[in-house]
Amino acid sequence: VPFGYADIDPSEKTARVGDVFKNVAAKYDLMNDAMSGGMHRLWKDRFVRRVKPRAGERILDMAGGTGDIAFRMAASGAQVTVADINAAMLAVGMDRAVKRRIDGLVWTEANAETLVFPDRHFDAYTIAFGIRNVTDIPAALKEAHRVLVRGGRFFVLEFSTTVWPGFGKVYDAYSHKMVPQLGKLLANDEASYRYLIESIRRFPDMPTFKAMIDDAGFVRTSVEPIMGGLVAIHSGWKI
Ligand code: SAM
Repeated sequence: VPFGYADIDPSEKTARVGDVFKNVAAKYDLMNDAMSGGMHRLWKDRFVRRVKPRAGERILDMAGGTGDIAFRMAASGAQVTVADINAAMLAVGMDRAVKRRIDGLVWTEANAETLVFPDRHFDAYTIAFGIRNVTDIPAALKEAHRVLVRGGRFFVLEFSTTVWPGFGKVYDAYSHKMVPQLGKLLANDEASYRYLIESIRRFPDMPTFKAMIDDAGFVRTSVEPIMGGLVAIHSGWKI
């Protein structure tokens, strides 16, 4: 059964996303390189340069998965908490951290929609390639706002819609044909990758998503498109 979630009830989405990431966890890092031609590494570097983590500050990396963003931020001496709804992704991340001798990270299972952290706890909140998988996005944005201190920074790295003429069509053809095939070949899981592509297509475009961030109470929100908006960094401040 294809994974497009056109016909599924929103309450089922969380469970399906859970299955997808449980299935892909072991092959997740390999697949990222294969699908993006290694470009996800550059996008993540750029994202973390934008966040500018500082020694001693508390940062929540939500939907942190196998740790790609947290590892990049840990070098600054910031106190990074990696939170993810999926224990299998976190387990791969903890293993990688041991292998790379990165310590000091806190790993915790959490749903972005309902955080257990107290109000005004973190100096910065990051979420990379995670928000589009969240079932109730406005709820997750509100929670992000709640757990940030006044003056706290909020950053999202996510696929969006490129405005480069012609490129969108090429990318659509690539993603709908090639990505599920790569999923089948490398991870023996075509359905999960079909879902991931479908979730990118359905995610709101840059102005719409920016407005959603405004609605959650953030100010001075801005968007920085990468490759015409194929990927975008949205950010905002809590005051
Ligand atoms: N941030 C990592 C990176 O950039 O490599 C992982 C991104 S991965 C594509 C998406 C992650 O979002 C998965 O680890 C998944 O378990 C997590 N996720 C999905 N829905 C979530 C939710 N409601 N709350 C927290 N994490 C969620």
